[in-house]
Amino acid sequence: MLTTSNPPDNSSNIDVLIVGAGFGGLYALHKMRECGFTARVLEAGDDVGGTWYWNRYPGCRCDVESIHYSYQFDEDLQQEWVWSERYATQPELLSYIQHVADRFDLRKDITFNTRVTAATWQEDKACWQVETESGETVRAKYCIMATGPLSVPNMPDFPGLDSFTGDTYHTGLWPHEGVDFTGKRVAIIGTGSSAIQSIPLIAEQADQLTVFQRTANYAVPAANRPMNPGELEAVKAEYAELRTRGKNFPTAIPVTPSGPSALAVSDEERERVFEEWWQDKGLMFQAAFADLLFVDEANDAVSDFVRGKIRSIVEDSSVAEILVPKNPFGCKRMCVDTDYYKTFNRDNVSLVNVKDTPIDRIVPGGVLVGGTTYEADAVIFATGYDAMTGALSKMHICGRDGLVLTDKWHEGPSSFLGLTVHGFPNMFTINGPGSPSALVNMVTGCEHHVEWIADCLTHLRDTGSAAIEAEKPAEEAWVEHSREVGNASLRSACDSWYLGANIPGKPRVFMPYLGGFPAYAEKCDSVAKDGYSGFAIT
Ligand code: NAP
Repeated sequence: MLTTSNPPDNSSNIDVLIVGAGFGGLYALHKMRECGFTARVLEAGDDVGGTWYWNRYPGCRCDVESIHYSYQFDEDLQQEWVWSERYATQPELLSYIQHVADRFDLRKDITFNTRVTAATWQEDKACWQVETESGETVRAKYCIMATGPLSVPNMPDFPGLDSFTGDTYHTGLWPHEGVDFTGKRVAIIGTGSSAIQSIPLIAEQADQLTVFQRTANYAVPAANRPMNPGELEAVKAEYAELRTRGKNFPTAIPVTPSGPSALAVSDEERERVFEEWWQDKGLMFQAAFADLLFVDEANDAVSDFVRGKIRSIVEDSSVAEILVPKNPFGCKRMCVDTDYYKTFNRDNVSLVNVKDTPIDRIVPGGVLVGGTTYEADAVIFATGYDAMTGALSKMHICGRDGLVLTDKWHEGPSSFLGLTVHGFPNMFTINGPGSPSALVNMVTGCEHHVEWIADCLTHLRDTGSAAIEAEKPAEEAWVEHSREVGNASLRSACDSWYLGANIPGKPRVFMPYLGGFPAYAEKCDSVAKDGYSGFAIT
């Protein structure tokens, strides 16, 4: 095992170095071993889990059903694991990932507490030299970046932050021991998925909660519940078939829209469908009709439905109007909630609209907006992530001929299939920009990428090849295709992390691939079947 105190002297013999021990990195390690490669993982945290290791804020849980948001590569694993709720909590997901690490004896090849700072392609040796914060150097023929699309917290540069006398937290870096807000005045900045999950629980505990909202978001009821008796058994009886079916859906989650168009049915029928899906479908509410995210009028209909729901739940109409989203439905990632809007009916919760009057600064006793100080003992930053490119950009990744990844991506990320980048041979990204990533079931996306990479490396070994690199024309064509597909969807219609718009100065490029999982997987398959067309193999 690599450790900080005992750097390996045989590191150059490693076939595959994997950065990150979340869902993608763990399966990559297992799969590479299974294919006969030597592989090691470097992980910044002190345990496995990735997203589910770092995000421990109150109410944190997945908004994709557990029966889908789990590995499918091992039939025994999926038959034996028992999910207790429809949507697993963060602790349950973490214990699942820990179980996977133990079950497949993965920990012996993972070095924890080790942050990768740089990776340099060594042309003469056809390998990557990877450096860590503690000064270790590891060499590997191939490098798999399983660093996660939402893993670098965005901490806005509020003036006066250092002067705050209370405690500060970021939802993505939550203390492992938890936080007790009893008797505290709490401020929370941001109203994305993380805030929407945590606000109802913090409001129950804190003395007072002040929510600072810049952009109102759409949230639909999670409809979470314990698994019904017999429900999991029924799924397990046909699990393999369910998984195969799932891959035929754009999100890689098997949910069939009620119809192709919200505009093709009567007003009454549309309302009936929306109501039915609102009650039970959680995140998949967005698939009630197939055109909700593509056709303006269909989108208007669903946007108005949700706006009506918010107005009916929130008792103070002036508060409700602040909470009503003005953007098209789904252009920012939809959120799921449990009692989010209802929470604003509580006496100890208040909402501050910082859209037109932004936060001026943090002051010793709280948050200053438009000359008013909102007093707080604790400030929570639910301000999201430097998405998709953040973790890759934080490392100094230097490819062929000294090309630095951040320089190459100066005007926005480009890749071939969201898996590889021209100029960076033998480097692969799991759920990288240009792949469906967070727009599909992330675990299915991880498994698909890992299996594609494993087949590719096996092909290289079988053909005695030293290196593979995306060719420039193939990358350019993929970027152009992704752009065209992206423009056809209303998802690119407003500022969001999909576009990098939440990070000042970040280029505006729609980063996840919007063509849906089946079309994407088919493209990846055809590239491989064509002898890795679009790649130079040397
Ligand atoms: P987010 O969706 O990016 O939300 C960040 C929030 O902070 C937004 O409301 C944003 O406002 C606000 N904000 C940022 N900078 C600000 C500033 N300077 N002043 C005021 N407000 C500011 O982040 P997130 O909630 O952590 O979620 C990120 C993604 O993680 C989600 O979209 C989802 O993909 C994933 N996630 C999933 C789950 C789940 O499975 N249930 C849970 C949590 C997160 P603007 O909108 O105006 O920028």
